[in-house]
Amino acid sequence: MTRSREIRLLSRPDGRPTAANFELAEVELPEPGPGEAQVRNRWMTVDPYMRGRMNGEEGSYVSPFHLGEPLMGGAVGEVIASNDPSLQAGDLVRSDYGWREAFNAQAGKLRKLDAQGLPPEAFLGVAGMPGLTAYVGLLRVAALKPGDVVLVSAAAGAVGSLVCQIAKLKGHAVIGTAGGAEKVRYLTEELGVDAAVDYRQHAGRLTQALAAAAPEGIDVYFENVGGEHLEAALNIARPFARFALCGMISQYNAGEPYGVRNLMLAVGRQIRLQGFIAGSYTDMTADFLRDLRAWIAEGRIKWRETVVEGIENAPAAFIGLFSGRNLGKALVKLS
Ligand code: NDP
Repeated sequence: MTRSREIRLLSRPDGRPTAANFELAEVELPEPGPGEAQVRNRWMTVDPYMRGRMNGEEGSYVSPFHLGEPLMGGAVGEVIASNDPSLQAGDLVRSDYGWREAFNAQAGKLRKLDAQGLPPEAFLGVAGMPGLTAYVGLLRVAALKPGDVVLVSAAAGAVGSLVCQIAKLKGHAVIGTAGGAEKVRYLTEELGVDAAVDYRQHAGRLTQALAAAAPEGIDVYFENVGGEHLEAALNIARPFARFALCGMISQYNAGEPYGVRNLMLAVGRQIRLQGFIAGSYTDMTADFLRDLRAWIAEGRIKWRETVVEGIENAPAAFIGLFSGRNLGKALVKLS
Protein backbone atom coordinates (compact mmCIF):
# COMPACT_ATOMS: atom_id res chain seq x y z
CA MET A 1 0.00 0.00 0.00
CA THR A 2 1.18 3.52 -0.87
CA ARG A 3 -0.10 6.50 1.07
CA SER A 4 -1.05 9.61 -0.86
CA ARG A 5 -2.56 12.93 0.08
CA GLU A 6 -4.91 14.70 -2.31
CA ILE A 7 -6.93 17.91 -2.55
CA ARG A 8 -10.69 17.55 -2.93
CA LEU A 9 -13.30 20.16 -3.78
CA LEU A 10 -15.39 20.55 -0.64
CA SER A 11 -17.73 23.33 -1.82
CA ARG A 12 -18.17 25.46 -4.92
CA PRO A 13 -16.55 28.92 -4.58
CA ASP A 14 -18.84 31.92 -4.45
CA GLY A 15 -16.64 34.65 -5.92
CA ARG A 16 -12.95 34.35 -5.12
CA PRO A 17 -12.07 30.84 -3.88
CA THR A 18 -10.97 30.43 -0.26
CA ALA A 19 -9.17 27.68 1.65
CA ALA A 20 -12.56 26.54 2.98
CA ASN A 21 -13.55 25.36 -0.54
CA PHE A 22 -10.85 22.66 -0.40
CA GLU A 23 -10.12 19.62 1.71
CA LEU A 24 -6.87 17.71 2.22
CA ALA A 25 -7.52 13.96 2.40
CA GLU A 26 -5.33 10.90 2.71
CA VAL A 27 -5.85 7.71 0.75
CA GLU A 28 -4.10 4.35 0.47
CA LEU A 29 -3.36 3.06 -3.02
CA PRO A 30 -3.35 -0.66 -3.78
CA GLU A 31 -0.78 -2.20 -6.12
CA PRO A 32 -1.45 -1.16 -9.73
CA GLY A 33 -3.90 -3.51 -11.47
CA PRO A 34 -3.48 -5.04 -14.94
CA GLY A 35 -2.62 -2.38 -17.51
CA GLU A 36 -2.02 0.21 -14.75
CA ALA A 37 0.97 2.05 -13.40
CA GLN A 38 1.51 3.76 -10.06
CA VAL A 39 2.95 7.26 -10.27
CA ARG A 40 4.40 9.60 -7.66
CA ASN A 41 3.88 13.18 -8.76
CA ARG A 42 6.84 15.54 -8.57
CA TRP A 43 5.13 18.65 -9.86
CA MET A 44 1.58 19.86 -10.42
CA THR A 45 0.24 23.01 -11.98
CA VAL A 46 -2.45 25.43 -10.88
CA ASP A 47 -4.15 27.29 -13.73
CA PRO A 48 -6.85 29.96 -13.99
CA TYR A 49 -9.13 27.76 -16.17
CA MET A 50 -9.63 25.46 -13.16
CA ARG A 51 -11.76 28.16 -11.56
CA GLY A 52 -14.53 27.65 -14.14
CA ARG A 53 -14.46 23.90 -13.53
CA MET A 54 -15.26 24.58 -9.87
CA ASN A 55 -18.61 26.16 -10.80
CA GLY A 56 -20.32 22.95 -11.79
CA GLU A 57 -22.32 22.54 -14.99
CA GLU A 58 -21.99 25.33 -17.58
CA GLY A 59 -19.09 26.87 -15.63
CA SER A 60 -16.35 26.18 -18.14
CA TYR A 61 -15.37 24.89 -21.52
CA VAL A 62 -13.83 21.94 -19.63
CA SER A 63 -15.91 19.34 -17.72
CA PRO A 64 -16.83 20.37 -14.15
CA PHE A 65 -15.11 19.16 -10.98
CA HIS A 66 -17.31 17.07 -8.68
CA LEU A 67 -17.76 17.86 -5.00
CA GLY A 68 -15.97 15.46 -2.67
CA GLU A 69 -13.64 14.23 -5.39
CA PRO A 70 -9.99 15.06 -5.95
CA LEU A 71 -9.39 17.88 -8.42
CA MET A 72 -7.71 17.15 -11.75
CA GLY A 73 -4.99 19.05 -13.57
CA GLY A 74 -1.61 18.77 -15.23
CA ALA A 75 1.16 16.93 -13.39
CA VAL A 76 4.60 15.46 -14.00
CA GLY A 77 5.56 12.38 -12.00
CA GLU A 78 7.69 9.28 -11.86
CA VAL A 79 6.43 5.74 -12.35
CA ILE A 80 7.11 3.81 -9.15
CA ALA A 81 5.45 0.51 -10.14
CA SER A 82 4.06 -0.70 -13.42
CA ASN A 83 1.75 -3.50 -14.43
CA ASP A 84 1.91 -2.58 -18.11
CA PRO A 85 4.74 -3.38 -20.55
CA SER A 86 4.77 0.17 -21.99
CA LEU A 87 6.00 1.74 -18.72
CA GLN A 88 8.82 0.99 -16.30
CA ALA A 89 9.66 2.20 -12.82
CA GLY A 90 11.67 5.40 -13.17
CA ASP A 91 9.88 6.63 -16.30
CA LEU A 92 8.81 10.28 -16.17
CA VAL A 93 5.20 10.80 -17.23
CA ARG A 94 2.78 13.63 -17.80
CA SER A 95 -0.84 13.20 -16.76
CA ASP A 96 -4.01 15.01 -15.80
CA TYR A 97 -3.82 13.54 -12.28
CA GLY A 98 -2.56 16.62 -10.49
CA TRP A 99 -3.74 17.71 -7.03
CA ARG A 100 -2.49 14.41 -5.50
CA GLU A 101 0.84 13.02 -4.40
CA ALA A 102 0.48 9.59 -6.01
CA PHE A 103 -2.08 7.68 -8.05
CA ASN A 104 -2.81 4.54 -10.06
CA ALA A 105 -3.94 4.95 -13.66
CA GLN A 106 -4.26 3.03 -16.88
CA ALA A 107 -1.02 3.32 -18.85
CA GLY A 108 -2.98 4.81 -21.76
CA LYS A 109 -3.76 7.87 -19.60
CA LEU A 110 -0.06 8.59 -19.09
CA ARG A 111 2.27 10.23 -21.60
CA LYS A 112 5.97 9.39 -21.29
CA LEU A 113 8.03 12.54 -21.01
CA ASP A 114 11.28 12.91 -22.87
CA ALA A 115 12.41 16.24 -21.48
CA GLN A 116 15.45 16.50 -23.80
CA GLY A 117 17.44 18.71 -21.51
CA LEU A 118 14.63 20.90 -20.21
CA PRO A 119 13.59 20.59 -16.56
CA PRO A 120 10.53 18.29 -16.37
CA GLU A 121 8.39 20.98 -14.73
CA ALA A 122 8.88 23.21 -17.81
CA PHE A 123 6.35 20.91 -19.49
CA LEU A 124 3.68 22.33 -17.20
CA GLY A 125 4.58 25.89 -18.21
CA VAL A 126 6.76 27.32 -20.94
CA ALA A 127 7.01 24.00 -22.85
CA GLY A 128 3.53 22.82 -21.91
CA MET A 129 -0.06 23.95 -22.31
CA PRO A 130 0.56 27.63 -21.39
CA GLY A 131 3.43 27.82 -23.87
CA LEU A 132 1.39 26.28 -26.67
CA THR A 133 -1.41 28.73 -25.81
CA ALA A 134 0.91 31.70 -26.29
CA TYR A 135 2.29 30.33 -29.57
CA VAL A 136 -1.01 29.46 -31.26
CA GLY A 137 -2.83 32.50 -29.93
CA LEU A 138 -0.26 34.93 -31.26
CA LEU A 139 0.83 33.25 -34.48
CA ARG A 140 -2.35 31.59 -35.72
CA VAL A 141 -5.35 33.17 -33.99
CA ALA A 142 -4.06 36.75 -34.01
CA ALA A 143 -2.18 36.01 -37.26
CA LEU A 144 0.76 38.23 -36.30
CA LYS A 145 2.17 40.05 -39.31
CA PRO A 146 5.08 42.42 -39.92
CA GLY A 147 4.73 45.83 -38.33
CA ASP A 148 1.99 44.84 -35.88
CA VAL A 149 2.00 46.60 -32.51
CA VAL A 150 1.06 44.02 -29.87
CA LEU A 151 -0.72 44.53 -26.55
CA VAL A 152 -0.63 41.69 -23.99
CA SER A 153 -2.55 41.60 -20.70
CA ALA A 154 -1.49 39.55 -17.65
CA ALA A 155 1.83 39.95 -19.42
CA ALA A 156 4.02 38.76 -16.54
CA GLY A 157 2.15 35.46 -16.18
CA ALA A 158 2.80 32.06 -17.72
CA VAL A 159 1.06 32.66 -21.05
CA GLY A 160 1.57 36.42 -21.26
CA SER A 161 5.32 36.39 -20.65
CA LEU A 162 5.83 34.01 -23.56
CA VAL A 163 3.53 36.00 -25.85
CA CYS A 164 5.61 39.12 -25.11
CA GLN A 165 8.88 37.35 -25.88
CA ILE A 166 7.71 35.69 -29.09
CA ALA A 167 6.39 39.02 -30.35
CA LYS A 168 9.67 40.73 -29.40
CA LEU A 169 11.91 38.16 -31.06
CA LYS A 170 9.84 38.55 -34.21
CA GLY A 171 10.62 42.24 -34.17
CA HIS A 172 7.38 43.79 -32.89
CA ALA A 173 6.65 46.66 -30.58
CA VAL A 174 5.06 45.15 -27.45
CA ILE A 175 3.09 46.72 -24.62
CA GLY A 176 2.27 44.64 -21.56
CA THR A 177 -0.04 45.17 -18.62
CA ALA A 178 0.53 43.69 -15.17
CA GLY A 179 -0.19 44.39 -11.52
CA GLY A 180 2.55 46.09 -9.50
CA ALA A 181 5.93 47.72 -9.93
CA GLU A 182 7.95 44.49 -9.71
CA LYS A 183 6.11 42.97 -12.66
CA VAL A 184 6.39 46.18 -14.67
CA ARG A 185 10.13 46.17 -14.07
CA TYR A 186 10.36 42.49 -15.02
CA LEU A 187 8.56 43.15 -18.31
CA THR A 188 10.63 46.12 -19.38
CA GLU A 189 14.05 45.24 -17.94
CA GLU A 190 14.13 41.45 -18.23
CA LEU A 191 11.77 40.62 -21.10
CA GLY A 192 12.52 43.74 -23.11
CA VAL A 193 8.93 44.86 -23.76
CA ASP A 194 8.72 48.43 -25.01
CA ALA A 195 6.27 49.68 -22.39
CA ALA A 196 4.53 48.14 -19.40
CA VAL A 197 1.47 49.54 -17.65
CA ASP A 198 0.57 48.78 -14.03
CA TYR A 199 -3.18 48.44 -14.51
CA ARG A 200 -3.83 48.76 -10.77
CA GLN A 201 -2.47 52.30 -10.83
CA HIS A 202 -4.82 53.20 -13.67
CA ALA A 203 -8.12 51.57 -12.70
CA GLY A 204 -10.97 53.46 -14.37
CA ARG A 205 -8.59 55.21 -16.80
CA LEU A 206 -6.77 52.36 -18.45
CA THR A 207 -7.52 53.68 -21.94
CA GLN A 208 -5.49 56.83 -21.28
CA ALA A 209 -2.58 54.85 -19.84
CA LEU A 210 -2.53 52.44 -22.78
CA ALA A 211 -2.92 55.24 -25.31
CA ALA A 212 0.15 56.92 -23.80
CA ALA A 213 2.09 53.64 -24.05
CA ALA A 214 0.94 52.97 -27.63
CA PRO A 215 0.38 56.42 -29.20
CA GLU A 216 -0.05 54.94 -32.69
CA GLY A 217 -2.56 52.34 -31.49
CA ILE A 218 -2.40 48.55 -31.53
CA ASP A 219 -2.90 45.88 -34.20
CA VAL A 220 -2.98 42.78 -32.01
CA TYR A 221 -4.44 42.33 -28.55
CA PHE A 222 -3.68 39.11 -26.67
CA GLU A 223 -6.53 39.10 -24.16
CA ASN A 224 -5.99 37.37 -20.82
CA VAL A 225 -7.90 39.67 -18.47
CA GLY A 226 -11.20 41.02 -19.88
CA GLY A 227 -13.35 43.76 -18.32
CA GLU A 228 -11.84 47.23 -18.50
CA HIS A 229 -8.81 45.81 -20.31
CA LEU A 230 -10.96 44.73 -23.26
CA GLU A 231 -12.72 48.07 -23.39
CA ALA A 232 -9.41 49.95 -23.35
CA ALA A 233 -7.91 47.69 -26.02
CA LEU A 234 -10.89 48.34 -28.29
CA ASN A 235 -10.49 52.08 -27.72
CA ILE A 236 -6.88 52.09 -28.93
CA ALA A 237 -7.19 49.44 -31.68
CA ARG A 238 -6.31 50.37 -35.24
CA PRO A 239 -8.44 49.33 -38.22
CA PHE A 240 -8.27 45.59 -38.93
CA ALA A 241 -6.83 44.80 -35.50
CA ARG A 242 -7.04 41.16 -34.38
CA PHE A 243 -7.95 40.26 -30.82
CA ALA A 244 -7.02 36.75 -29.67
CA LEU A 245 -9.39 36.11 -26.76
CA CYS A 246 -7.45 33.65 -24.61
CA GLY A 247 -8.99 34.27 -21.19
CA MET A 248 -10.67 36.90 -19.02
CA ILE A 249 -9.38 36.26 -15.53
CA SER A 250 -10.86 39.48 -14.11
CA GLN A 251 -14.28 37.95 -14.72
CA TYR A 252 -13.79 34.48 -13.24
CA ASN A 253 -14.78 35.49 -9.70
CA ALA A 254 -16.98 38.44 -10.63
CA GLY A 255 -20.60 38.17 -9.53
CA GLU A 256 -21.79 40.67 -12.13
CA PRO A 257 -19.84 40.44 -15.42
CA TYR A 258 -18.25 43.67 -16.68
CA GLY A 259 -20.35 45.03 -19.54
CA VAL A 260 -18.02 46.12 -22.35
CA ARG A 261 -19.59 49.34 -23.59
CA ASN A 262 -17.71 50.03 -26.81
CA LEU A 263 -18.01 46.78 -28.75
CA MET A 264 -19.53 48.84 -31.58
CA LEU A 265 -16.00 50.03 -32.37
CA ALA A 266 -15.31 46.56 -33.75
CA VAL A 267 -17.72 47.28 -36.61
CA GLY A 268 -16.29 50.53 -37.92
CA ARG A 269 -12.69 49.54 -37.34
CA GLN A 270 -13.32 46.06 -38.76
CA ILE A 271 -11.68 44.41 -35.75
CA ARG A 272 -11.67 40.63 -35.56
CA LEU A 273 -12.28 39.18 -32.09
CA GLN A 274 -11.64 35.46 -31.92
CA GLY A 275 -11.80 33.24 -28.87
CA PHE A 276 -9.68 30.12 -28.84
CA ILE A 277 -8.82 27.08 -26.75
CA ALA A 278 -5.25 25.81 -27.02
CA GLY A 279 -6.42 22.19 -27.07
CA SER A 280 -7.98 22.78 -30.49
CA TYR A 281 -4.55 23.60 -31.96
CA THR A 282 -2.49 20.56 -31.01
CA ASP A 283 -1.53 20.25 -34.70
CA MET A 284 0.93 23.07 -33.89
CA THR A 285 2.61 21.26 -30.99
CA ALA A 286 5.56 19.95 -33.01
CA ASP A 287 6.25 23.37 -34.57
CA PHE A 288 5.88 24.99 -31.17
CA LEU A 289 8.37 22.68 -29.45
CA ARG A 290 10.85 22.92 -32.32
CA ASP A 291 10.76 26.73 -32.28
CA LEU A 292 10.78 26.95 -28.49
CA ARG A 293 13.83 24.71 -28.15
CA ALA A 294 15.68 26.76 -30.78
CA TRP A 295 14.77 30.06 -29.09
CA ILE A 296 15.82 28.76 -25.68
CA ALA A 297 19.13 27.49 -27.11
CA GLU A 298 19.73 30.93 -28.63
CA GLY A 299 18.98 32.59 -25.28
CA ARG A 300 15.96 34.43 -26.68
CA ILE A 301 13.33 32.99 -24.33
CA LYS A 302 13.42 33.15 -20.53
CA TRP A 303 10.89 31.94 -18.06
CA ARG A 304 10.10 32.27 -14.40
CA GLU A 305 8.23 30.00 -12.04
CA THR A 306 6.63 30.77 -8.70
CA VAL A 307 6.90 27.54 -6.73
CA VAL A 308 5.14 26.55 -3.52
CA GLU A 309 6.02 23.26 -1.88
CA GLY A 310 3.69 20.57 -0.61
CA ILE A 311 0.25 19.35 -1.65
CA GLU A 312 -1.24 21.07 1.40
CA ASN A 313 -0.28 24.43 -0.13
CA ALA A 314 -1.80 23.77 -3.56
CA PRO A 315 -5.09 25.58 -2.79
CA ALA A 316 -3.18 28.70 -1.69
CA ALA A 317 -1.13 28.58 -4.91
CA PHE A 318 -4.34 28.38 -6.91
CA ILE A 319 -6.08 31.17 -4.99
CA GLY A 320 -2.95 33.29 -5.43
CA LEU A 321 -3.52 33.38 -9.20
CA PHE A 322 -6.36 35.83 -8.58
CA SER A 323 -4.24 38.25 -6.59
CA GLY A 324 -1.22 38.09 -8.87
CA ARG A 325 0.95 36.22 -6.36
CA ASN A 326 2.73 34.47 -9.21
CA LEU A 327 5.39 35.84 -11.53
CA GLY A 328 5.56 33.46 -14.49
CA LYS A 329 4.16 29.97 -14.07
CA ALA A 330 2.53 29.01 -10.76
CA LEU A 331 3.64 25.51 -9.77
CA VAL A 332 3.45 23.18 -6.78
CA LYS A 333 6.45 20.98 -6.01
CA LEU A 334 5.53 17.68 -4.44
CA SER A 335 7.99 15.72 -2.38
P1 NDP B 1 -1.03 33.66 -15.15
O1 NDP B 1 0.27 32.98 -14.90
O2 NDP B 1 -1.03 34.87 -16.01
O3 NDP B 1 -1.67 34.01 -13.74
C1 NDP B 1 -2.82 34.78 -13.66
C2 NDP B 1 -2.47 36.27 -13.58
O4 NDP B 1 -3.62 37.02 -13.89
C3 NDP B 1 -2.07 36.73 -12.19
O5 NDP B 1 -0.71 36.53 -11.92
C4 NDP B 1 -2.47 38.18 -12.20
O6 NDP B 1 -1.35 38.95 -12.60
C5 NDP B 1 -3.54 38.29 -13.29
N1 NDP B 1 -4.84 38.63 -12.70
C6 NDP B 1 -5.52 37.95 -11.77
N2 NDP B 1 -6.68 38.57 -11.47
C7 NDP B 1 -6.70 39.69 -12.24
C8 NDP B 1 -7.64 40.75 -12.39
N3 NDP B 1 -8.79 40.80 -11.69
N4 NDP B 1 -7.34 41.74 -13.27
C9 NDP B 1 -6.20 41.71 -13.98
N5 NDP B 1 -5.28 40.74 -13.87
C10 NDP B 1 -5.53 39.73 -13.02
O7 NDP B 1 -2.06 32.62 -15.76
P2 NDP B 1 -1.94 31.89 -17.15
O8 NDP B 1 -0.83 32.45 -17.92
O9 NDP B 1 -2.00 30.44 -16.91
O10 NDP B 1 -3.31 32.29 -17.86
C11 NDP B 1 -3.48 33.61 -18.39
C12 NDP B 1 -4.85 33.69 -19.05
O11 NDP B 1 -4.89 32.76 -20.13
C13 NDP B 1 -6.01 33.36 -18.15
O12 NDP B 1 -7.09 34.19 -18.49
C14 NDP B 1 -6.33 31.92 -18.50
O13 NDP B 1 -7.66 31.59 -18.23
C15 NDP B 1 -6.03 31.94 -20.00
N6 NDP B 1 -5.71 30.65 -20.58
C16 NDP B 1 -6.44 30.25 -21.67
C17 NDP B 1 -6.12 29.12 -22.34
C18 NDP B 1 -6.89 28.77 -23.56
O14 NDP B 1 -6.67 27.69 -24.15
N7 NDP B 1 -7.80 29.63 -24.03
C19 NDP B 1 -5.04 28.23 -21.90
C20 NDP B 1 -4.28 28.77 -20.76
C21 NDP B 1 -4.63 29.93 -20.14
P3 NDP B 1 -1.21 40.52 -12.19
O15 NDP B 1 -0.31 40.56 -11.01
O16 NDP B 1 -0.64 41.12 -13.41
O17 NDP B 1 -2.59 41.01 -11.85
